[in-house]
Amino acid sequence: MLIEVKLTMSQSHNISERMFELTQKNSAVREMFEEGNRLAALYGRENVYDFSLGNPYFPAPEAVKTAISDILENEASTFVHGYMSNSGYADVRQAVADNINRRFGTGFAAGNVIMTVGAAGGLNVILKTLLNPGDEVLVLAPYFLEYGNYIANADGVLVVVPANTEDFQPDAKAVAAAVTSKTKAVIINNPNNPTGVIYSEDTIRKISEVLKQKQKEYGHAIYLLSDEPYRELAFDGAEVPWLTKYYRNTIVGYSWSKSLSLPGERIGYLLIPSEADDYELIYNAACIATRILGFVNAPSLIQRAVARCLDESTDIAAYDLNRRLLYSGLKKAGFECVYPQGAFYLWMKTPCDDRQFCAAAKKHNILVVPGASFSCPGYVRIAYCVGEDTIRGALPGFEELAEELIK
Ligand code: PLP
Repeated sequence: MLIEVKLTMSQSHNISERMFELTQKNSAVREMFEEGNRLAALYGRENVYDFSLGNPYFPAPEAVKTAISDILENEASTFVHGYMSNSGYADVRQAVADNINRRFGTGFAAGNVIMTVGAAGGLNVILKTLLNPGDEVLVLAPYFLEYGNYIANADGVLVVVPANTEDFQPDAKAVAAAVTSKTKAVIINNPNNPTGVIYSEDTIRKISEVLKQKQKEYGHAIYLLSDEPYRELAFDGAEVPWLTKYYRNTIVGYSWSKSLSLPGERIGYLLIPSEADDYELIYNAACIATRILGFVNAPSLIQRAVARCLDESTDIAAYDLNRRLLYSGLKKAGFECVYPQGAFYLWMKTPCDDRQFCAAAKKHNILVVPGASFSCPGYVRIAYCVGEDTIRGALPGFEELAEELIK
């Protein structure tokens, strides 16, 4: 929770201008989350319907607890709490590579994997590794707004490719139009936060073709950074394309924050394929970036635990129930929604300005995040990684909102 500070830019303060700016525009998602806590203190947690944060409601699988206990009991000799290589434990990286190879028919080795402090840590490491000041990084709207901060941390320039509001599949032509000689990377997030859409194989092929052509045109690599914390959250048997098969200069960033409900443990990996241009340099630099950004290495105990739980899964059936319940409830109330195919977000068109909608929803103790926070106004994101009761409790409020705002 941030302390409220009322200052203007002209008043003297001792923090950097950039951090000062950030204190003045804190993340809307975090703000809503704090608002949820405030309302819960006033009205009781059960009377507040907080759909703001992607914080999984369902606990980590039992296997995680068992693995942690067993490691503490029986693996003390592996130096469980010690420093290690900046890339992480070699046996853990090998286990991760083997698991990817089994699932996607690839041929990666431990030397392609760096364990990271979640997806956020991984993205900061790879952006620090790749960017010179002024290098451009494309993001596809609507997008996870923290990308802008991560890119700025590495002195890069954020370039937003406008949303395709037809079906929220990114438009390859719009990507082509945004690439310049300064483009170093494109961040892609599939399944997508905030829309819940899974980018199709056709979309991926088209974007890959554009990037291959642009690499030729400009004579340098453009890296596709595939941010995949929601890979396992795909419904109705939907396939999430594995990008290294389509585009050689792909670097994958993964996290167990959502797939094993471990967001507070801060654990994920970067996968840097040997076929990527300058693989050795990138790998070595990313290890150094891990060190100098102050991560040093991904947390040791949870590294060892996830290595034992690579085939475990969160309760996807429970998310699926939530998805259907919320979607059908909102449609019945009269709202226009994108049918979620993956992740745990529902993207809903607002009948009025999205910020006004959020303010109106708050009066019903419903907290959702405005689309403007994802560079796509006119929508809200509803995170349904909550208990079923929260959805059932909120639906009457949504119906009243529909009556107030649609009819
Ligand atoms: N990328 C996306 C698209 C996310 O939604 C999130 C978290 O919500 C992250 C990255 C950060 O994930 P992590 O907790 O693994 O750092």
